[in-house]
Amino acid sequence: MSFGFDHFDFDLFVIGAGSGGVRAARFAAGFGARVAVAESRYLGGTCVNVGCVPKKLLVYGAHFSDDFEQAGGFGWTTNKPKFDWTTLITNKDREIHRLNDVYRHLLENSGVTLMEGHARLIDPHTVEINGQRFSAANILIATGGWPSVPDIPGKELAITSNEAFFLKDLPRRVLVVGGGYIAVEFASIFHGLGAHTTLVYRGEMLLRGFDGSVRQHLHEELTKKGMTLEYKADIARIDKLEDGSLRATLKDGRKIEADCVFYATGRHPMLDNLGLEHTAVVLDDKGFIKVDDEYRTTEPSILALGDVIGGVQLTPVALAEGMAVARRLFRPEEYRPVDYKMIPTAVFSLPNIGTVGLSEEEARAAGHNVTIFESRFRPMKLSFSSSEEKAFMKLIVDGDTDKVLGCHMVGPEAGEIIQGIAVALKAGATKRVFDDTIGIHPTSAEEFVTLR
Ligand code: FAD
Ligand code: NDP
Repeated sequence: MSFGFDHFDFDLFVIGAGSGGVRAARFAAGFGARVAVAESRYLGGTCVNVGCVPKKLLVYGAHFSDDFEQAGGFGWTTNKPKFDWTTLITNKDREIHRLNDVYRHLLENSGVTLMEGHARLIDPHTVEINGQRFSAANILIATGGWPSVPDIPGKELAITSNEAFFLKDLPRRVLVVGGGYIAVEFASIFHGLGAHTTLVYRGEMLLRGFDGSVRQHLHEELTKKGMTLEYKADIARIDKLEDGSLRATLKDGRKIEADCVFYATGRHPMLDNLGLEHTAVVLDDKGFIKVDDEYRTTEPSILALGDVIGGVQLTPVALAEGMAVARRLFRPEEYRPVDYKMIPTAVFSLPNIGTVGLSEEEARAAGHNVTIFESRFRPMKLSFSSSEEKAFMKLIVDGDTDKVLGCHMVGPEAGEIIQGIAVALKAGATKRVFDDTIGIHPTSAEEFVTLR
């Protein structure tokens, strides 16, 4: 099929075979375009290699410490369980290699030309990779992000999520810095696997931007489990001690010793040696690539999507953007803009958070006449356990229209539960619709349709 770009080597050249790049490349090729994708590091990008997938596998691993404790109440005798980090990491690596191959086959079977190496822009229509130059009618930058670590003395002694997945041993004492998704997820992983874990966050309460009751509830649950949470605290410097361990000196002068200091202080766009200076692409005030609402950069032939544009940094969002770009370029009659409203999300802390829609604070700030329904309860699975863990659920309803504006949960399988609720909220469900829905008994999820 010709799209009128025959004087170029490719109709679309995608830089980055991560979540968004692979989706755009595969679908564009499926629509008949001549597509190349360049990948410098690992097929599947952050999510598959050093993000969502290995992280979730580690979270599953970390949850077994609770499972073993609870099993006793159901009559199981478990000899003192022992954890082996090498087994978990080896199995994780094997699974990631399998997924890398799946991605390779997906691309090949879609007719995409895969080029492995670092890609660099030479001009608005030319990409250089492995010493060869290729022209393309459209170039899509989908190069993702990279962890940011503040510039403090000793920063080279710290690790980020990139390295955590490949540690040789489970550290005995871990100091996690940050209060966002990655900080709370990895603090839960390390703590669940048996490391003594301290989380240091510069703010007043972890997970800024999430619903206030959710933040408070997670804080209480993590504290109950024995994790140390330090707020309004930040690290001034890190030093290596004679025995090889690390000492973090906080800005208030306190010192914390640890075997591993893990930074989760946000991510910046990956633009290293990309050659943007040879184009008219401009960055926004936070350093992300500036695009319009159809992912066009300020250079007409170049588009960008996913983490590198700094919007909502989630895999399903990058996938949706990839699909939108492929359709807009090569199947415009099927193009639908990405709807950024009501994006559900989960934080895979232990316990999990699942959330969709507005927080109570956002709903009030937007001027809604807010009615709150909430519940805290002991999950049935813990009936025979000494665990004090409680699940938390909250609905935020517009008192005037009865529309459910937000739905939040902290507890087992919160992500699984909220995915279904997100469909209801997207369809505009009212509290009455929730009330008229028959529950599934006995589940935790049924609480959402019985909240009064
Ligand atoms: P990426 O997936 O980062 O892909 C970019 C690709 O471009 C990379 O493979 C990179 O090597 C390649 N590249 C960069 N520069 C070049 C170049 N010049 N030439 C060739 N190739 C290049 N999201 C969720 O939805 N759920 C989760 O549970 C979740 N967990 C996460 C856990 C962690 C620890 C992290 C770090 C992120 C997590 N995310 C999660 C976020 C998710 O991984 C990202 O939002 C998503 O991967 C972004 O996709 P992308 O296509 O924009 O970029
Ligand atoms: P986040 O933006 O979620 O959190 C960064 C944290 O670091 C915040 O608590 C921030 O504090 C703090 N911070 C930032 N700069 C500094 C600094 N200089 N010194 C001290 N603290 C600092 O980023 P993450 O790195 O946790 O994750 C990146 C993104 O990846 C997430 O936003 C999310 O989109 C995605 N992700 C999604 C997951 C999922 O879906 N389950 C899991 C993991 C990542 P403050 O609040 O004060 O700004």
